Amino acid sequence: MSFWRPIIGLEVHVELNTKAKMFCRCSARHFGRKPNVHTCPVCLGLPGALPVPNIEGIKRAILIALALGARINKDFWFDRKNYFYPDLPKGFQISQHFKPIGLGGQVPILIKGKEKNIALDNIHLEEDTGKLIHKENESLVDFNRSGVPLVEIVTQPVLSSGLEAKLYLQRLQQALRYLGVSDCDMEKGSMRLEANISVKDETLPVGRQELIMKNDKLPDYKVEIKNLNSFKFVQKAINYEIQRQIRILEKSKQPQQETRGFDLKKGITFSQRSKEAAKDYRYFPEPDIPPFKFSKKEIEKIKKRLPKLPWEWEEEMIKMGVARTWVKTITKSKKLSKLFMETAVLGKAEGIEPDQLAKYLVNRPALRKEPPEIIIKKIKTDLSKFSLELKEIKKYITQALKEQPGAVGDFKNGKVQVLGFLIGQVQAKAKGKADPKITAAEIIKQIKNGA
Ligand SMILES: [Zn+2]
Repeated sequence: MSFWRPIIGLEVHVELNTKAKMFCRCSARHFGRKPNVHTCPVCLGLPGALPVPNIEGIKRAILIALALGARINKDFWFDRKNYFYPDLPKGFQISQHFKPIGLGGQVPILIKGKEKNIALDNIHLEEDTGKLIHKENESLVDFNRSGVPLVEIVTQPVLSSGLEAKLYLQRLQQALRYLGVSDCDMEKGSMRLEANISVKDETLPVGRQELIMKNDKLPDYKVEIKNLNSFKFVQKAINYEIQRQIRILEKSKQPQQETRGFDLKKGITFSQRSKEAAKDYRYFPEPDIPPFKFSKKEIEKIKKRLPKLPWEWEEEMIKMGVARTWVKTITKSKKLSKLFMETAVLGKAEGIEPDQLAKYLVNRPALRKEPPEIIIKKIKTDLSKFSLELKEIKKYITQALKEQPGAVGDFKNGKVQVLGFLIGQVQAKAKGKADPKITAAEIIKQIKNGA
């Protein structure tokens, strides 16, 4: 029997939400604007125009690298990636190849109840291209996006399924949103990704499975899937592609190295073109921008901007005794995490456990719009709903049983379902403040005692 191991690496591009573009002072806000209103000689790639780096873009890229635990290259530079395409007016993209801002790093995910760290290869900074708009018989270019700062986060080829890829992407999106450096909106294109997929034959004779771990050579081909714009499609496209490649490998053939698209309607991938190798881009250091050298002190200063990250919030909440299922929902947004923590402090003084508070915030989204004091007040009122004392409950039961001799008789004759009716009678008198469980037990007791 064959054993096929999928090997997946992801390249995620996120547009930084800086005010200005990466190498000129044009506005970087391009979404939904009139075409070609945010342009200048630099981002139009006119001859002789010189790029001037946006320091805030660089700082945000360093911040991302720090948050994801990457090693920072304090001295780095930009490189030219040469290729021709109509959305790239200069004929090259300013990117990083030889010395990316961040090396390594990891993103922790939770898969089937187990924690796994997804290892990163590098984090680098580059400029976005223009946007092509295809109409029936013509293609138009909008340069508003040309030169917007773009951070690329590249994983090592360590993912093994569509689900794992989806969980990684959701985690990355969450972390970047906590950092506040990008809105990471896949539909608007501020978060885009490419998946590299190959499948390895790990069929070994029985008893020699331990060799699998040692033999970590990658297959000598990979297929890239481009333009995946939702988490759901990422998962579908990857799973489809793994099966497609296995079918080819089972015929003792090798899948072609190529770039494929994903057909949303049919749910299949399709061939677009053969994939370029790095050597095709003829990378060389960007001569118009001198290399950078950050001091340890400057990096420390950027580090101070790091907020508490989602996994740190989670750890804290779990330590407070909050159930994992509530934690997962609350930490989806930084705003909600903050609200939870602020309210938990107040709740403690009022005898409301963090787990109880979390449950309320998850199950009653309307509460999230209130300030902490009001949330606590509302929870307290809600909890005191069944606040009626036993003495009072007993009194209402006695009254209700007296008024309903028929139902009492039915109950005695074994028609236990009338219990619900009797509880309702008591609640009507108690204005809903009687604990239903206690009420039920007391009714049975009173009937047995000869009511
Ligand atoms: Zn410009």
